Amino acid sequence: MDDATASNIFEALRVIEQIDRQIESCREQLAALSPELADSERRVSELEARAQAALQRSETADGRRRKLERSAAAGRETLKRLQQRALEVQNLKQHTAVRAETDAARRNLEAAEDELLEAMQEVEEARGELAALQRRVEEERAADAELQARSGERRAELEEELLIHQDRRENRRMRLDPGAMRLYEAVRGGKTRQVLAALTPDGVCGHCYTFIPVQRQAEIRSQRRLHRCEGCGIILYPVE
Ligand SMILES: [Zn+2]
Repeated sequence: MDDATASNIFEALRVIEQIDRQIESCREQLAALSPELADSERRVSELEARAQAALQRSETADGRRRKLERSAAAGRETLKRLQQRALEVQNLKQHTAVRAETDAARRNLEAAEDELLEAMQEVEEARGELAALQRRVEEERAADAELQARSGERRAELEEELLIHQDRRENRRMRLDPGAMRLYEAVRGGKTRQVLAALTPDGVCGHCYTFIPVQRQAEIRSQRRLHRCEGCGIILYPVE
């Protein structure tokens, strides 16, 4: 590495580090879009399942109501027939028999009518629940569609932004000393995301505060060589 470019290398590495942060931010934002969409889809399908179950309940209740309506109608027919027969009785024995049958038929009809009322109420409740759920399904579907459209736009924006950053990075990389670039990539591949830190005027690493041997400090300050901190592995640059 020649002296004329040494200080430029720090500057170039700092620019690349900044671009890498932007690239990382774009990637994180892109990754965050998917769970949000998945959540929204899950909410829609859960509500759809609940609406489907409510429809089933409403249909079952309605089937019960129709059946009870038929029993009540049959009960009324029986009662009418018995009342007709009561007009035609010939003696007390027949009268008593018809009377007993009529009482039984009336009790049956009353029971059927009570059950019918209950069933009608059940139908009404089930339909109310179904209507409310259907409205919520519609709302959630609309919100989901809006989210899909918005996140589609955002995705396209972020992907474009990412391409621009990657392009800028490539331009910078091509103009940089390959040895410096390799060192940069090696540091970046490690556990820290930060690649560069200042060597403080006190002679410690600006990232982990490890003391840097005096000889190395001199080499860093003279900008003759790139040095990594022995504590954290970061590339140290001199501050004026
Ligand atoms: Zn350090």
